[in-house]
Amino acid sequence: MIGAGHNGLVTAAYLARAGMRTLLLEARDHVGGTAASEPFGGGTVNICNCDHLTFRTTPVIDELALGEHGLTYLDVDPSQHNLAWAGGPAWTASHSIDDTIESLRATFPDEVEGYQRYVRAARPAIELILAAAAEPPSPVGLTKHALRRRMAGVPTLLRWSRRSAADVMRSFFRHDALLGTGMVTGPMVWGISPEFPGSGLGALTHAMRHVGKVGRPVGGSGMVPTSLLRAFEHHGGTLRTASRVDTIMCEPDSAGGAVRGVALDDGTEFTAPVVISACDPHRTFLSWLKHPPSSARRLVERWRDVPHAQGYESKIDAIISEVPRIRGLDHPPAATTTIAPSLGEIHRGHGMMAMGAVLDRPGMLVNVPTLLDPSMAPDGGRDGRHVFSLEALFTPYGLQGGWDGSKEPWRWLERFADLCEPGFLESIVEWRAMTPDVYETEFHLPAGHATSFAGGPLAAFRNRNPELTNYETDVSGLYLTGAATFPGAGVWGASGRNCATVVLDQRS
Ligand SMILES: Cc1cc2nc3c(=O)[nH]c(=O)nc-3n(C[C@H](O)[C@H](O)[C@H](O)COP(=O)(O)OP(=O)(O)OC[C@H]3O[C@@H](n4cnc5c(N)ncnc54)[C@H](O)[C@@H]3O)c2cc1C
Repeated sequence: MIGAGHNGLVTAAYLARAGMRTLLLEARDHVGGTAASEPFGGGTVNICNCDHLTFRTTPVIDELALGEHGLTYLDVDPSQHNLAWAGGPAWTASHSIDDTIESLRATFPDEVEGYQRYVRAARPAIELILAAAAEPPSPVGLTKHALRRRMAGVPTLLRWSRRSAADVMRSFFRHDALLGTGMVTGPMVWGISPEFPGSGLGALTHAMRHVGKVGRPVGGSGMVPTSLLRAFEHHGGTLRTASRVDTIMCEPDSAGGAVRGVALDDGTEFTAPVVISACDPHRTFLSWLKHPPSSARRLVERWRDVPHAQGYESKIDAIISEVPRIRGLDHPPAATTTIAPSLGEIHRGHGMMAMGAVLDRPGMLVNVPTLLDPSMAPDGGRDGRHVFSLEALFTPYGLQGGWDGSKEPWRWLERFADLCEPGFLESIVEWRAMTPDVYETEFHLPAGHATSFAGGPLAAFRNRNPELTNYETDVSGLYLTGAATFPGAGVWGASGRNCATVVLDQRS
C-alpha cells in the first residue's frame, strides 16, 4: 500500500482485517496526509479545514471499530455561518431544515421559499449519491439504489449534472450570501469555476448539511488517521514511515506482466502480488510505473494526455489571544464562517489563477476550532489562547513572484480583519501560511494539488479513465485509490473502502 493518507489507511485496514499481510509505506514521518493534525504554537492545528461530513455517512467508523481506537466526533451544529463580501447579515445553516429556515427568515426572508424548493430538489439526490458512493460504482448498482428510492433524486441528478452550478443556484437564490457561499464549499474547494457546464452537482452543498452531520474529531482531524492506524495495526498490518516509493516494478511480458512490488528512493525493494497506490494517479502511472507490461501501454499514453491540475487552496493557522467578533454574526465562530464573493467574482478569480493572481476578496472558510474542542488549544485553553484557521481559495500554485516571502497571506488576514470588530490582527500571537508550494514539498502533492474525483455517480457510465471508478488498472495486481478516485475529495474514506472491496473480491 503506497501512501498513508486516510484513504490508504482505510484500504490497508480492511485488507489487514481480512487477513492479508499488508505493508503500508508512507513518505512522511507521520500518517494522515492532508487529513492529519500537527502541533503548532503549543496547540494542535488541522491541515484541512476539518469539517467532516461524508466520512460520518460511511460504515467505516463502525466496521473498523474506530470508536474503540480513540475516535470521538463532536457535532458542529449550527454547521456553518454564511456571509457575503458584498455585505449584509450572516445566515446560519443547521442540520435541522427548520432551524435553517428560521435563520433565513430573520436575515433573508425573500430567500425562504427558494431554499425550501432547493432542499426539496437536492435532498433526495444527495441521499442517492451517498448510497451509490458506498460501493464501487456501476450502472447496475446505481439503478438498484434508484429503484429502491422509487427514482427519488434521479431527475435532479440528471438535470443538474448537465447544467453549471451557478445556473442551478440562480434558479433558487438571489443574494451572494446564498449563491456564493454554496459555491465556496462546492466548486471553489474543488478548484473549478461554478460557471463551468457540467458542474451542477456542485450546487448540492448547502443541502448536504441537512442529510449528514458536520463533525470534528476530539483532538483534531488527525484522530481519523490515528484511529485508522490503530485499527490497521490491531489487525496485524505493518506501517513503515519515511519510506518514499519511487518505483512500481512489474514482471516482464514473458512472465505475465503482473505487478512485482515497489522500490523506495533509497533502493530498498519490497515484493508483493498486490500493490495499491493511494496517491496521485499521474505520479503513479507516469513516474513510478517502470517498464509497464504491454497490457498497460495504452493506460500510460492516456494518462500522458490527462491535464495535471495545480494547487489552488491555502490555509493560515494562527494562535490568537482573543476570539474574533465578526460583525453581523451573533455566534462565536466555532462552526466555519464561509465568506463568499459574488458568482461573477468567483468565475473571475478562477481565471485569475492562470495569471498567478488572487482575488482582492477571495472565498474564505474561517473557524476557531478550540471553541468546540479546547483540547487543541495551547495549554488546554487555560490562558485564553485559541487556534484560528482560515482557508483561502483560488490561491494559485504559480503565484506571481512566488509564495516565498509573499505578503499575500497576511493580506487575507487583513481582509478578514475588515469584517471583525477592532483588535483581530493585534490578537495574533503566532501564525503560518500553508500554500500550494508547501503542500507540494511537505505533503508530496504534485504542484500542490489535492486530487479530487469530479464525476459523481454517473461517471460509471461515461468515465474515460476507468481506473478512477473501478480501482483496478491494466497491470494485473496494481490498484488505485485515494481522493482522485470515486467518490473523490474530502475526508470521506469511501474510495479507500471501495478499493478494498474490489481487491478482496478479486483475491478471495
Ligand atoms: C487546505 C485544505 C482544506 C481541506 N478541508 C477539508 C474539509 O474541511 N473537509 C474535508 O472533508 N476535506 C477537506 N480537505 C480535503 C481532504 O483533506 C483531502 O481530500 C483528503 O485528506 C485526501 O486524502 P487521501 O488519503 O486521498 O490523500 P492524501 O491525504 O493526499 O494522502 C496521500 C498520502 O500519500 C503519501 N505519499 C505521497 N507520495 C508518496 C510516495 N512516493 N511514497 C509513499 N507515500 C507517499 C503522502 O505523504 C500522503 O500521506 C482539505 C484539503 C486541504 C488541502
